[in-house]
Amino acid sequence: MLALRDVTVRYGDTAAVDDVSLDLASGQVLAVLGPSGCGKSTLLRAVAGLEPLASGSIAWGGTDLSGTPTHKRGFALMFQDGQLFAHLTVARNVAYALRLRRTPSARVAARVRELLDLVGLSGYDDRLPGTLSGGERQRVALARALAVEPRLILLDEPLSALDASLRERLAGDLRSILHEAGTTALLVTHDHEEAFALADRLAVMRGGRVVQQGAIDEVWREPVDEETALFLGYARVLRDDAARRVLGAAALPPAYAVALRRSALVVDDAGSLSAVVESARVTPELVRLVVRVEGAGIVDAVAPLGGRVAPGDEVSLRVDVTRLAVLPITR
Ligand code: ADP
Repeated sequence: MLALRDVTVRYGDTAAVDDVSLDLASGQVLAVLGPSGCGKSTLLRAVAGLEPLASGSIAWGGTDLSGTPTHKRGFALMFQDGQLFAHLTVARNVAYALRLRRTPSARVAARVRELLDLVGLSGYDDRLPGTLSGGERQRVALARALAVEPRLILLDEPLSALDASLRERLAGDLRSILHEAGTTALLVTHDHEEAFALADRLAVMRGGRVVQQGAIDEVWREPVDEETALFLGYARVLRDDAARRVLGAAALPPAYAVALRRSALVVDDAGSLSAVVESARVTPELVRLVVRVEGAGIVDAVAPLGGRVAPGDEVSLRVDVTRLAVLPITR
């Protein structure tokens, strides 16, 4: 549906978005994930029609959008902080764009009810934004963005202003709301958890370029390089002999580098890697260790709770192959 071809956006001499091509199918959620300053907000603004392209094209359903101004694209934008109108009630905020379009008031009332129900805020009609929690405000912002049934919703770090527990809860809700409404969405974020929680597909962006894109689990299992792996939440990357040592213990063929999640190595008497515990920290689910593995150096590992593992202990480790990624040969 949405097709970006070789899109470049320049500020003066620098390309904030550099030759980006992306596709987004109808009903899908695509997350563009990248560090601050990589150009993702600029990309989102370009799709919205708020930044001119230096070159390339953006099309919807095969129709080039270069001549279509922002308000005629049928896209909705939702920002980090929701940006509600503080002096308008929840119902008025949600109804705002419908009223601008002179929608009959009975229709507006019905649509507002439907949307508040969808975002789990039935009965909040008369509340003012100042009386809502951060999560509730984001839900209202989402309802407002969905009100005009946008062809595409553009989300700029929709959860990052929320605290961790709320973020997790709202992420699940937001995902089901988007799917229930059948909305096509383009999300930009620096937070891989947010991307994984919300999206079907992922594009990893760095220095204005898309360095990898694909289905979430594909990108997750096969990050294209070391920097991408670390950005996706892998804890460490081992190279050369260290990589071969861990891969060998997992009966995997040798490779130039392997990225390990913090739980890739598990304390297990039947494991084939021997290690010495450097430090141990108890968490509610398991014990997180830092260990020194002969031939692989300092790495992270986990032990089940109640295993009484202490610094200085010698332990055996098993490799959980679902928690590592073999990296292709690039430096
Ligand atoms: P992100 O959203 O990934 O943090 P941005 O798209 O906001 O990144 O910015 C990408 C680059 O473009 C940054 O180097 C930023 O400083 C620069 N930039 C963004 N907006 C402007 C602007 N209006 N004028 C000049 N440079 C800008």
